[in-house]
Amino acid sequence: MKLLPHTPDWNASPPEVWKHWQLVQLRDYLNRRVIPFSAHYGRLFKEHGIHPLDIKSLEDWSRVPLTSKQDLANPRDFVLMPNEAVLRREPGMIFTALLHGKNAAKEQAEAEFRPILLTSTTGRSADPVPFLYTKHDLHNLDISGTRLMLAGRSQREYRHINLFPYAPHLAFWLAHHAGLGFGTFMLSTGGGKTLGTDGNIKLIDKIQPDILIGMPTFIYHVLREAHETGKRWTNLKRIVLGGEKVADGLRARLRDLATALGSPDVHVMATYGFTEAKMAFPECVGESHEASGYHLSPDLGLVEVIDPKTGELVPDGRPGEIVFTPLDARGTVVLRYRTGDIAEGGLTWEKCPNCGRTCPRLLGPISRVSEVRELHIDKLKGTLVNFNLLEHLLDDQKGIAAWQIELRKRNDDALETDEVHLHLTAEPGVHEADLELAVSRRFHEATEITPNELHFHTLAELRDQLGVGRLLKEEKLVDHRPKAHTAASHVALSS
Ligand SMILES: [Zn+2]
Ligand SMILES: [Zn+2]
Repeated sequence: MKLLPHTPDWNASPPEVWKHWQLVQLRDYLNRRVIPFSAHYGRLFKEHGIHPLDIKSLEDWSRVPLTSKQDLANPRDFVLMPNEAVLRREPGMIFTALLHGKNAAKEQAEAEFRPILLTSTTGRSADPVPFLYTKHDLHNLDISGTRLMLAGRSQREYRHINLFPYAPHLAFWLAHHAGLGFGTFMLSTGGGKTLGTDGNIKLIDKIQPDILIGMPTFIYHVLREAHETGKRWTNLKRIVLGGEKVADGLRARLRDLATALGSPDVHVMATYGFTEAKMAFPECVGESHEASGYHLSPDLGLVEVIDPKTGELVPDGRPGEIVFTPLDARGTVVLRYRTGDIAEGGLTWEKCPNCGRTCPRLLGPISRVSEVRELHIDKLKGTLVNFNLLEHLLDDQKGIAAWQIELRKRNDDALETDEVHLHLTAEPGVHEADLELAVSRRFHEATEITPNELHFHTLAELRDQLGVGRLLKEEKLVDHRPKAHTAASHVALSS
């Protein structure tokens, strides 16, 4: 039995209540669940002489070492494996055994600890890391899924269609559990790979959903095809996006397409989630169409924002890397996990101006730490190029239907200088020459480099090159530079 104060209300509890509650919960969670049952963290805390009950403040907590992707080489070390003898002595277990018998106590332990679902990371370069869920985690997935519905002001009577690719990937399963948790109609089509674009369009046409949920580029593609084939979808109210980041330009284009299909007041709502959190954090739908950040679940996870170089906490509202610690997860558990994502607007505990909720929020845009790369454009010195900036720029540029940045070596020679090639598809009616001029100029303004070459493609060609519907993450930045041992230092990431 946990001697914890009642969990605060997600919508309305004030920051000081949350901050106190989170520390109490963190200590209890570490002490009863993580440190005794996690091989990795049991070892780590011992090595550093840290006892969970000594963590009295966030400052104490910030002395616990961070966990990075590279630390997850042996995923089994991060799975909570209960020790039966320890469990049997727990007051909660004794209580259940006395009241309902030994079998009930055993069932309770099974539900809490036995892994029954797996989702996996989808890194571009690193090996995928499996994350295990127990029944306890699936219950929490229902809770965080329900909050997506609440933040998006959905209603039980609404019809929802989940267009995420069917895969062992958080996005698909979270959308599925959002429907279960909220108790509403949710049709999961499996996305483009399973039914094809046409199959998805036919289903949407038949069901006339209120809410579409999926990857930004796939939903854009579906809406565009639907519009071009003369469909009328007049019942759409929300478009909920996940799986990749969403540029402001794309939001506007999605709203325009929905209007053209007959739904003039669609709200576009983005979510931010990652495998290691086993949840996603939603934007909210309020009076305005302005995004007001990602609403966290402080009862389920502790989010910190750090300086990616020093690892120190940054003050609220300052940009930094997002670090996550679950407060009630079982199965695979990582503490102080470095996401590699930068929240440009930092963390805020101020009341949301859009929906009035008082849960903490992460303010975007959110970009990858590792996308600042050093390029050797000339033989003399390296140039640091922020590809996040370029991505935002290309997403927001009017007249571009799709794009891809390709890094090459001059003459495919590993010892030669780097080249940046830009692949583009123009929107119908846009002159390629105009686009070429506009893009080259904006490229140069943002990064002081200009693409070596622009290649124009049809939408079908470029979509294939990007892996739309085939890959879970589109390859918007591809590196085709041949590697030579002597050139290894040239491709080092700056972070
Ligand atoms: Zn509106
Ligand atoms: Zn809000």
